[in-house]
Amino acid sequence: MKISDLGEFGFIDRVASSFQGLLKEGFTGIGDDCAVLPKNESQVLVVTTDMLAEDVHFYRSKISARELGFKSLAVNLSDIAAMGGKPESSFLSLGVPADTDISWLDGFFDGYRELSLKENVMLCGGDTISSDRIVINVTIIGSAEKSLLRMRSMAAPGEIICCTDNLGDSAAGFRILQQDLAGGEDENFLVRRHHCPVPGVAEGQWLARRRGVRAMIDISDGISSDLRHILRASSVGASLDLERIPLSRQLRSVSERHQWDPLDLAVNGGEDYCLLLTVDSGEFENISAAFEETFRRPLTAIGGTDDMAGDLRLFLNGKQVRCNGSGFHHF
Ligand SMILES: [Mg+2]
Repeated sequence: MKISDLGEFGFIDRVASSFQGLLKEGFTGIGDDCAVLPKNESQVLVVTTDMLAEDVHFYRSKISARELGFKSLAVNLSDIAAMGGKPESSFLSLGVPADTDISWLDGFFDGYRELSLKENVMLCGGDTISSDRIVINVTIIGSAEKSLLRMRSMAAPGEIICCTDNLGDSAAGFRILQQDLAGGEDENFLVRRHHCPVPGVAEGQWLARRRGVRAMIDISDGISSDLRHILRASSVGASLDLERIPLSRQLRSVSERHQWDPLDLAVNGGEDYCLLLTVDSGEFENISAAFEETFRRPLTAIGGTDDMAGDLRLFLNGKQVRCNGSGFHHF
């Protein structure tokens, strides 16, 4: 058997189950956006790590060094945000070809430093090796109040599913790069959204302080995939109303120009790095109003959880649809 037969999640499950027995009390290992380690009576450490490889996650000719430095930190901060944590320190390891220009590396660290300053995260260490292609590994350690931690397993039936930003921009930006369509103002906006995602660190901490907020995850693989993580961890089902998914003006207009289905990009695309969460239905109105007042951006309800464990149903204007890779079709 090859690792490609197992798939990423199958492989993770295999490793997680064989190391489960080593976990001491108070530790939560593989299976959420961050690992949780005890810190003191009331606080925990949240730790996440992520790897980006050239020609797998990015093309050096398509992203500037500065943007890549920014994004490497951003995608990790997003996992800290998903737990309601406060990021504190980062560790950065780089594999770089020996002929890499120092100006490229300076640019990379400019971007990394820009976001470190903005989010008040210290770079505390790392490693550098020579490699054929660029490989970037970032680890972030953050902290959270134990009682405020938000896990994927905290959803219950009857809750509202919502997201903190427009979806699909990043996936459209990636497609624009792949098909060499950049240049226009809207196209460039979408490419920027792909290259410089803004992690919802403040939003995550704010949401975690609201008692009506239950399960949280950040959107890295696309809501259809990320929501399934919540469904699996919480043993709940869900239905999504696709027409309620928030889409940017730029995504709509570029999709129309190229005859793309913006909903397909929003649901299956990924790399949005905003938050997907479930909220107690009785508290949703208050929480969403206060969220909008604080962040000047809506908290958009896009569906609800139910007791059909593990089952995700998609509706478009009230009719159930399924996704077959080329958009949504009625049953
Ligand atoms: Mg995540």
